[in-house]
Amino acid sequence: MRAIVVRQLGGPEMLKLEDVPRPAPHDGEVLVRMRAAGVNPVDTYIRAGAHARKAVPPYTPGFDGAGEIEAVGAGMDRFAPGDRVYIGAAPGSRPAGAGTYAELVLATPDQVHPLPAGISFGQGAALGVPYATAYRALFQRGRARPSETVLIHGATGGVGLAAVELARAHGMTVIGSGGTDAGLAAIRARGADVVVNHREQGYTDAIVTATAGRGVDLIVEMAAHVNLDRDLGLLAKHGRVVVVGSRGRVEINPRDAMGRDADIRSLMLFNVSDNDLAEIHAAIGAGLQNHTLNPVVGREMPLAEAARAHQAVLEPGALGKIVLVI
Ligand code: NAP
Repeated sequence: MRAIVVRQLGGPEMLKLEDVPRPAPHDGEVLVRMRAAGVNPVDTYIRAGAHARKAVPPYTPGFDGAGEIEAVGAGMDRFAPGDRVYIGAAPGSRPAGAGTYAELVLATPDQVHPLPAGISFGQGAALGVPYATAYRALFQRGRARPSETVLIHGATGGVGLAAVELARAHGMTVIGSGGTDAGLAAIRARGADVVVNHREQGYTDAIVTATAGRGVDLIVEMAAHVNLDRDLGLLAKHGRVVVVGSRGRVEINPRDAMGRDADIRSLMLFNVSDNDLAEIHAAIGAGLQNHTLNPVVGREMPLAEAARAHQAVLEPGALGKIVLVI
């Protein structure tokens, strides 16, 4: 079978399509024939050796994806060959090197989840990391409640659009930010009540106005290195910021937090517990079934173009998820 293999940490050019041995499921495992693999920013940090989680080459990248059950090991009765599934494992729990940028992937039953008819494989590849992260940020770390106002600061990407959908379905007022007209249109189409362009001077004024000066209860932050200091001034009393993404250091004024009894929280999906992950995928499954969740795939690229996809996922102007078609 073919898979992307990284033999040396470094730039995108390290991603090479190779023939590798076909895996066989052991007892209690499933073998998934992948149709789409998700490309996440974290895949690029790990490939470059710039992430706390270290990969030991040679390895195959990728934490999420979707496909069909190809074969099941002995003692496995939850899935049968032909079932449509997505992979939603805790990134830390995938076997080292056994990433999803491959034609065939081994998984344990708790790492695969049914993919309803009507949700494409590409959309299924948007669930494992972005939707799980968005759910964890909003509900498990952010303690989001219906009737609250949430700012999704960076709402046009994989995590951001997922957060918009989840927050809307939860009965929240949603303010989403993006950096392009196409991105803002996508946020609006997913149900955001207010959209703002985070590249425009003074864009936070519209956020203050939208809350009648009260501030937002929760911020899901994709670019804390740019925004965290400003976020504290946008919070309502007892507000929370959940840091999902940050690409550098930032200076804050703690008094802006103190004056509001505000919390700065954070998450790393690698740290999720089995119980929390089960909750996450039960909720995602329900949202797919009742059509409140409908992932946006912005770009599909062939598996062989993984290197180009790694460049694209770091470029500004996000529009949903980038997916490798297998
Ligand atoms: P993505 O699809 O590349 O989206 C990036 C998002 O950040 C876009 O909405 C982009 O908006 C926005 N952005 C860029 N500059 C911004 C700014 N100055 N202010 C606010 N937003 C800004 O990436 P993703 O998959 O959604 O992930 C988002 C971030 O979370 C990444 O940094 C990723 O590494 C991180 N992440 C962390 C975890 C975790 O476990 N902690 C899990 C998943 C992702 P425009 O392009 O429209 O400007």
